[in-house]
Amino acid sequence: MLQLVDVGRRSLAEYQKIVGEEALQELRALAGQLKGARILHLNATPYGGGVSELLRSQVPLLRALGLAADWRVIFGDEKFFTVTKAFHNALQGAAHALTEEDKETYLLYNTRNARLMEKDYDFIVIHDPQAAAVRHLRGDRGAKWVWRCHIDTSQPNPDVWAFLKPFIEAYDAAVFTMGQFIPADLMVKYVSIIPPAIDPLSPKNMDVPPEMCRRIVDWMGIDTERPIITQVSRFDPWKDPLGVIAVYKLAKQEIPGLQLALVGSMALDDPEGWHIYAEIQEYEKGEPDAFVFTNLTGVSNMEVNAFQRHSGVVIQKSIREGFGLVVSETLWKGTPVVAGRAGGIPLQLQDGVSGHLVDSVEECAERVVHLLRHPDEGAAMGAAGRKHVAEHFLLPRLIRDELRLLVSLA
Ligand code: UDP
Repeated sequence: MLQLVDVGRRSLAEYQKIVGEEALQELRALAGQLKGARILHLNATPYGGGVSELLRSQVPLLRALGLAADWRVIFGDEKFFTVTKAFHNALQGAAHALTEEDKETYLLYNTRNARLMEKDYDFIVIHDPQAAAVRHLRGDRGAKWVWRCHIDTSQPNPDVWAFLKPFIEAYDAAVFTMGQFIPADLMVKYVSIIPPAIDPLSPKNMDVPPEMCRRIVDWMGIDTERPIITQVSRFDPWKDPLGVIAVYKLAKQEIPGLQLALVGSMALDDPEGWHIYAEIQEYEKGEPDAFVFTNLTGVSNMEVNAFQRHSGVVIQKSIREGFGLVVSETLWKGTPVVAGRAGGIPLQLQDGVSGHLVDSVEECAERVVHLLRHPDEGAAMGAAGRKHVAEHFLLPRLIRDELRLLVSLA
């Protein structure tokens, strides 16, 4: 059997105060049309990265709506995940010389995972490319199959895309975060655009008093009397962690007391993270006010929450980005964000309103320095950002959009 991720139960009623009764009624009505349907969400890792973050919150709420939702993860090892991370990068446009061995490894593990899929479901949602071929290898088994793409596939590497495309075209529906991400030649019966969302009640996003955040950040070794900027991201070249350090070095020339926290997580399906981590450590050598924290040394949801709240500005210097949950997470906390103009970030961050979209290290540093010097402006931007996230990027909206899709497929 594919490994089940245990997520327990949650009550929908707790969201009423945040999104209102009408929104919850709509969810109940949609779930009612699906009559206790069995839904499987399948992805590559139970921790690290945005997809596991989403499923951790989404699956218990689907259950609260009376649906028999499961979250399972595929089986894989370093060899397989090295291939799938290369595919992930290639689908976002990176060069990759696709080899026969890559294809064999990918298909071998997809075949094994397809065999492990023993239980029957009415809907099977497979996230991202790692297990995309399972639908083809398994046959439809009486289910409706959805491929949920979380990355920017607008200009995929042609070889990798040509290899994966037939597997994806076997699905009943494909879901993308933005219209621009749909590869031009994709032929799938049903295509839907659904941006992700954050869970306002999770330990990562729940309200935490400023003094508590200050104490958590202080405990981590930060001098809370001095300003701090933060980026929270997997250690991934597209998130440009070295660019963030370069921004910090420039900004520190203007604000000598400045500190930097790079908070990064390792994910089971991301072996590249370790190499980037070593590179970052090398690059920030001799910078006593730059800190690198990871989930391996105890930086978990509450600490991320505290850093996102306590920082004067949060950076998300992505070069390519699927959505970037961290942007909504930060804006929800009323903290202004300076972020790369990439992928799903402009959906969340209104340039000049809730922060700034930037295209270079210099521009990023300039915006960061300005916001640190004008905290009132930063606070007003943060407040505007929270409002925008409240309207568009909270979990009940995501569940509504996905249930609508399942209803139309049924
Ligand atoms: N995250 C975390 N700890 C870290 C780095 C990231 O908890 O050290 C979380 C982050 O808060 C967000 C998710 O991982 O919820 C990353 O999602 P995002 O969509 O920003 O990027 P992805 O990793 O999916 O590309």
